[in-house]
Amino acid sequence: MALSMPARLLSPDAWKKIHGNTEAGRDGMNIVPGDSRTAGEDYFARITDNPLGRAFERKTAVHAGMGGKRIEGQDAAGLLERLRETPRQGQAAAYVHLPYCESKCLYCGFFGGAYSEEAGAAYVEALIREVESERNHASVASAPVNALYLGGGTPTALRPFELTRLLRVLRSALPLANDCEITVEGRIHNFGAEKMEACLEGGANRFSIGVQTFNTDVRRRIGRLADQDGVCRCLERLASYNQAAVVIDLIYGLPGQSVDAWEEDIRAFLALPLDGVDLYQLNIFPGSALARGIAAGSLPETASLAEQGAFFERGLAVMQSARCRRLSMSHWGRTLRERNLYNPIAKGRLDCLHYGAGAGGSLNGWFMFNASNVEEYLRRCDGGEKPVAVLTAPPEDLDIVRVILGQMEHCRLNLDDVDAAFSRSARRDCPDARTLYAPLLDNWEEAGLVTRDDPWVELTPAGQFWQVNLSQALIGRQRRMS
Ligand code: SF4
Repeated sequence: MALSMPARLLSPDAWKKIHGNTEAGRDGMNIVPGDSRTAGEDYFARITDNPLGRAFERKTAVHAGMGGKRIEGQDAAGLLERLRETPRQGQAAAYVHLPYCESKCLYCGFFGGAYSEEAGAAYVEALIREVESERNHASVASAPVNALYLGGGTPTALRPFELTRLLRVLRSALPLANDCEITVEGRIHNFGAEKMEACLEGGANRFSIGVQTFNTDVRRRIGRLADQDGVCRCLERLASYNQAAVVIDLIYGLPGQSVDAWEEDIRAFLALPLDGVDLYQLNIFPGSALARGIAAGSLPETASLAEQGAFFERGLAVMQSARCRRLSMSHWGRTLRERNLYNPIAKGRLDCLHYGAGAGGSLNGWFMFNASNVEEYLRRCDGGEKPVAVLTAPPEDLDIVRVILGQMEHCRLNLDDVDAAFSRSARRDCPDARTLYAPLLDNWEEAGLVTRDDPWVELTPAGQFWQVNLSQALIGRQRRMS
């Protein structure tokens, strides 16, 4: 729902269709102009008195990359079969993708098609077939699932009885842990009491609602249908059941949104009986209606990357002054009901079962994505097949990448843990983490992006804003040593 939602895994084809071939920010290149270092060393920050706005020219990617070789044809089929019969260990999640929405928001990066009752019904049948067909595979049945996430698209576009049925099938077919977090993602539009109760009856214990902004004018500008009052009443009702954590997404840098209006959004969240909030940065995807509207002058400009730093800083200050708990880079808990289990599992590249068109998951470090074309997905599910379209081998440095991405998501890195991951990955050719990363860390410290308290490297607020650049740099530097 929020276009920066980091943990949603979508197939490369779906991703390319949505984002185009580039993920470049609008502010230009990543290489520091006039820097004499080689292109391979383009992760050094500018030394500036405004590191939040100016440390880098652009964000390197929406998500720091994983890499890994794509496997095709018969090799992929055989490997997939073996993976599905291999028991899982450790924490795991399951992601279920519902692609349809009742209307398209202007900024959207995840619209998978217009919802209709007919399309929704056929899709739910296919999903249930996919889930049922693999319930006895070792990859599913061998270990508990700690977090189940129904994302989209708009899962709450489904009819009430479909929501209950789907959730019940998932709860019966997947070995959910007793304390499993069961999230239904939704939007305010057409999410009334009947659907809320249907989700609760199906066992949902967490709702993630895409609000994006409470401001009615800005909402209308980006194609959201409900006004501020309608948003607040809906959230109050959802919270009043006292049965599930209710968290919302807010986005900063929207067209015509000021930093003060952003603070008002956060204060509107704080005034409601909600359990948590995700604060996301707006990314403008090439070819989106938002990009076209701005280019044509029919929409006001959005905040530049440099200006977004100021939004990020204000958000941090308001959340800290309200004594909210930082759960990860963008996720904040306000009550103890909000745990945010799904995102760290998915972002740490741990095992994730996947269901639905274009949904992505991972097993034992192997990444796989279902066919993103809904017709192909339906046809393959109909034939009793697991509709995987892409299978990617684990990168050699998977363990290192997991440590870096997992810890940086929590705004810090333990260099001893990186060294341990180097040893496990047999990186004898690689110097120890302190030596390897010294040039970067020295530069980032001088640039105001990190502080060091050995073995810990802590991200400053500016470092948090540029976290994806820093994570990518850490991964890239050790890869260049191999
Ligand atoms: S509700 Fe649908 S169209 Fe709007 S942002 Fe979410 S996925 Fe995109």
